[in-house]
Amino acid sequence: KEGAKTEAKKVLNVGTEATFAPFEFMDKGEVTGFDVDLLKAVANEAGYDVKIENTGWDAMFAGLQSKQLDIGMAGITITPERVDSYDFSNPYFESKTMIAFKDVKIENAEDLKGKKIGVQNGTTGQFAAEKIVGQNSSDISKYETAALMFQALQSDNVQAAVTDIAVALEYQKNNPDTGIETVTDDKQFEPEYYGIVFPKGSEYVEEFDKALNTVLDNGKYAEIYKKWFDE
Ligand code: GLN
Repeated sequence: KEGAKTEAKKVLNVGTEATFAPFEFMDKGEVTGFDVDLLKAVANEAGYDVKIENTGWDAMFAGLQSKQLDIGMAGITITPERVDSYDFSNPYFESKTMIAFKDVKIENAEDLKGKKIGVQNGTTGQFAAEKIVGQNSSDISKYETAALMFQALQSDNVQAAVTDIAVALEYQKNNPDTGIETVTDDKQFEPEYYGIVFPKGSEYVEEFDKALNTVLDNGKYAEIYKKWFDE
């Protein structure tokens, strides 16, 4: 046991999009959040260290394609299209789509019609919005990061933002006097599950699934969940 401590662990390169609180965001120059704590716990269990870099969303997927990154971790929903191109861990978090809006009345997804909508480019929020107002709708504005999408809502460039529930609620909580409201729509939006992403054929998937199971079973997951989601 003493000797094991001094053995250098292999460092895996991780990409993320760190404007997605509470899952990943920058704090004093460091990427922090639920995903960061969970990934570190799982990697540690599997016997690896991780180096997490705020690559941004598109560069994260490009880095996984080119195998410059070993892992992508960014509240990434497991979708059939993505499964064609990447390997995923087992699901680690259930999510759903939420509409954040300001100065308009929105009670369900249908009410998005005729509104100016902001989404983060290439996310399930974009796909959910497109399902309602059409894929080529000029009412949808696509932003590079979740932060830019919320900024657009804040500054009235859009009237609604379509994103993941926990992220919308966190934004609302952190920006209480902005008049931002939120609503979900279980009729129109499917439940989603986040997974850890690896390049296709990655050697790490099995080890990480095993380690994720352990972390789910041994109370570590519950501890991390409590830290980020319990008041
Ligand atoms: N869960 C959403 C998706 O996978 C959003 C992820 C994100 O913006 N970081 O598309």
